[in-house]
Amino acid sequence: MAKKKSANDPAPAEAPPASSEYTVLARRYRPQQFADLVGQEPVAQSLVNAIESNRVAHAYLFTGARGVGKTSAARILAKALNCVKGPTATPCDECELCKAIMSGEDIDVLEIDGASNNKVEEVRELRSNVHYRPSRSRYKIYIIDEVHMLSTSAFNALLKTLEEPPAHVKFIFATTEVQKIPITILSRCQRFDFAGIGMSGIVERLKGIVAAEGMEADPEALEIVARRAGGSMRDAQSLLDQLLAFGGDKLTAEQVHRLLGTANEERVAGLAGAALDHDPRRALELLGQAADQGLQLGELLDQLIDYWRDLMVVNCAGLENQNLSISGKQRDKLKQQADSMSADTIMAGLDVLVSAKNRMRYTSHARVLLEMSLVRLCRLEHLLSLSQLARWVSEGAPAGDSTRPKAAPAVARSAAVSAGDEKKKLEPEAPLAVSGPLCKESLEAIWQQVLSQVGFILSRELSKITNVAIFGPNTLVVQIPSGYNAGADQYLDASRLAKVEEVLSKIVGQPCSIRLEIGAGGAPENGQPGEAPPLVPGSAKRQRQREEVAQVPLIGRAMDVLGGQIMQMDEDFGAESAKVEEIQTGEATEEG
Ligand SMILES: [Zn+2]
Repeated sequence: MAKKKSANDPAPAEAPPASSEYTVLARRYRPQQFADLVGQEPVAQSLVNAIESNRVAHAYLFTGARGVGKTSAARILAKALNCVKGPTATPCDECELCKAIMSGEDIDVLEIDGASNNKVEEVRELRSNVHYRPSRSRYKIYIIDEVHMLSTSAFNALLKTLEEPPAHVKFIFATTEVQKIPITILSRCQRFDFAGIGMSGIVERLKGIVAAEGMEADPEALEIVARRAGGSMRDAQSLLDQLLAFGGDKLTAEQVHRLLGTANEERVAGLAGAALDHDPRRALELLGQAADQGLQLGELLDQLIDYWRDLMVVNCAGLENQNLSISGKQRDKLKQQADSMSADTIMAGLDVLVSAKNRMRYTSHARVLLEMSLVRLCRLEHLLSLSQLARWVSEGAPAGDSTRPKAAPAVARSAAVSAGDEKKKLEPEAPLAVSGPLCKESLEAIWQQVLSQVGFILSRELSKITNVAIFGPNTLVVQIPSGYNAGADQYLDASRLAKVEEVLSKIVGQPCSIRLEIGAGGAPENGQPGEAPPLVPGSAKRQRQREEVAQVPLIGRAMDVLGGQIMQMDEDFGAESAKVEEIQTGEATEEG
């Protein structure tokens, strides 16, 4: 009976050559039996069945990402068919033929690289050789790797052979891009789709290799390697090769991060935590430290994307049985963070990071881009879901204000209303009468109350304000006289603005915020806002799209009632998928 190795007991299949030349792990630990094909059990089982029932097709197509075992499977199949003890599902690995196939040097098993032999002449040559019988084996087997690289005429030539193949010929095609293969070829092959290899499968295999090499590795270190390889066993093994050469006797997570230039989990979690705490100063400080220590910023961005993806997954599906990028230590914190936010807010954050990733390809200013994204994340307020907005619109509250400015370039911005603040109930013994929600009708009375309660000096300052309007739910925009060139922040500094907001919040009974805006030149423009400046400088087409979007009834009404504005629009936005990406409002809804 042929010897059969199990996946968890990898012994080097190819002994290191006698010369001092080093054979890479991926080659030495190449799977030699169907049972060794990690993560491809369905494919392996089907091939075994085909061999055992003598129903081997004359052409196979193996598709799947790189490094998942397509070429290995092709060689195993070739051995299974040609082994002197075969055809057998468990080739012996000891006969001349098995050994020759293993090393890719068998005269009857021809491995052709589709990328470099893609011309029609080469396929014609193949066709004329197809008719010669194999010199010493049962079958003449052609393994064509990257078959999608063949030219159209080469495919046509190949097709002729596939239509009437000689009985002694087998074809095994492998490709990473099956969609590029003509349907005429597809229909003549038996197709097997190789799955990406799961993380645990890769980790197990790496563990086995490390042990077989007489070395040690932290499980966490191997997990990082496996995650980084993204489902490719070959990539994981190449990486392990480098790491084993670099490290000492024991491979640690720290070493892996150092070699890959990636940040350790604490660092990633720290950065994410700063952004989620709306603390740009700390976020930038941490980023600065990472950059100074030579971390790859592109990698760091990837890690942040993974973190936000984890937040999304945990927010939607909980912590159990999830394949997360962070390990045990940080998970509780992650869960807390994920639960404190709405899915929309998390996804808006993910959007910020992913678009930064896209832009990073075209810029050399990786650091600036990353800093910008972090600051954006820090400023990301809690978003309302569209359904919540729709409910609001249909209930008609809070009422809109026709005098609100259509666009409000925020000169100064009040602190975001955090979800925590929202939950805080106002003191019952508050001396001020609560006047109810801000709406068009109540605005004037509420503002007068504010003036009467902020104290003499502040009240005098506020009386210079030329226009007060509702900007969004519980948000007012106030126009400062245009002659006031010193800037809004000097007109009302942060602490005085906070005082006014506090008084306003008490009167309204809910947390409120105020935006300051410099009035357009000339007389106060009672309710006659100037032309809205484009929010994002862009083409006229973009502007047109923006106008079209505003015509979508739901969005138009939402903007009207809530006093919102379109902050951002998806590239592929269409009237069909009508949704406002972000009607950014301080989330100040008290349910009920
Ligand atoms: Zn054999």
